[in-house]
Amino acid sequence: MRFECQSGCTKCCDQQGFVYLTEEDVTRIATHLGLSQPVFEKRYLYRTKHLRRLRIPRKVQCIFLKPDGCSIHTVKPLQCSTFPFWPELVDDKSEWRKTGKWCPGIGKGPLVNIEEAQAIAQTMRDANPLDQ
Ligand code: SF4
Ligand code: SF4
Repeated sequence: MRFECQSGCTKCCDQQGFVYLTEEDVTRIATHLGLSQPVFEKRYLYRTKHLRRLRIPRKVQCIFLKPDGCSIHTVKPLQCSTFPFWPELVDDKSEWRKTGKWCPGIGKGPLVNIEEAQAIAQTMRDANPLDQ
């Protein structure tokens, strides 16, 4: 598999779906924004017993996406920093190819070692932002 994120592209921030956060993501982003965790959560987070996600209505782009890109780029959620090496994409060639239809970085750049891709996917499995 080949991948190289394309400069100026933000298509993955504009897809239908949710951005799930780990507890570490919540703490890191709240600190970066200079907000207490309760204030950050009230403003940006939807939390249930089994998940935390940004309050993003479906079909609306991420609240942190600004005209010049991700406004929390240096502290962005694990889900964002590991894309496209998510377990469901690394483990399934057809899903990888399907994602490559809208992510212009897939299929470009140097070959990515499968062990390296699997290791990134494993960080998502270990963090399990859907059930911590
Ligand atoms: S859609 Fe792909 S190329 Fe574009 S910013 Fe996201 S990962 Fe990078
Ligand atoms: S947090 Fe940043 S990288 Fe993640 S979807 Fe939102 S704008 Fe994109």
